[in-house]
Amino acid sequence: MKVLLRRVGDVSTEALVRAKEAIIRETGLPVLIDYHKLQPNLEAYNWKRRQYLASELLKTLGRVDGFLTLYLIDADGYEEGLNFVFGVALPALGVGGVFLARLRNEFYGWLPDEEKFLKRVEKEVLHELGHLLGLPHCPNPRCVMSFSNSILEVDEKEAAFCEVCKKRLMSRLAGSGGY
Ligand SMILES: [Zn+2]
Ligand SMILES: [Zn+2]
Repeated sequence: MKVLLRRVGDVSTEALVRAKEAIIRETGLPVLIDYHKLQPNLEAYNWKRRQYLASELLKTLGRVDGFLTLYLIDADGYEEGLNFVFGVALPALGVGGVFLARLRNEFYGWLPDEEKFLKRVEKEVLHELGHLLGLPHCPNPRCVMSFSNSILEVDEKEAAFCEVCKKRLMSRLAGSGGY
């Protein structure tokens, strides 16, 4: 199993590299980066909300054969019934995405903090990858698989799987072929 990281819009190379390093550190999976800057499909854009319908956008971006495909997206995303999502995973397709708009301090009117932003990117990428590998949400607020409803909750968790999730993850990786 291999992971492909791709970017949509104006996403820094630094963010891609940090995501790659986090995935290798936490899962041992091989990671490739596609440095092309992809453009989001406007059919998934909701002009009223100024957000992309997350799962719809991911479907239009699609998967790359042979990879679990993770997108870093320089935009804001939502799902029906939710004001926003930090990210989304479509395990059946092997595609996941992280929306970067709300991971930046500036979104909340705070001073920019690049290191904090990159740490948040690591966490949300690991979270969506965890879902792609079949992990559910974790009740441990420090675990990267805990569900975050706000940026404060994102900051509270570590860029790492807890022991329970790590075990689960390793057994999934050991037991699965495909992708
Ligand atoms: Zn989740
Ligand atoms: Zn956990």
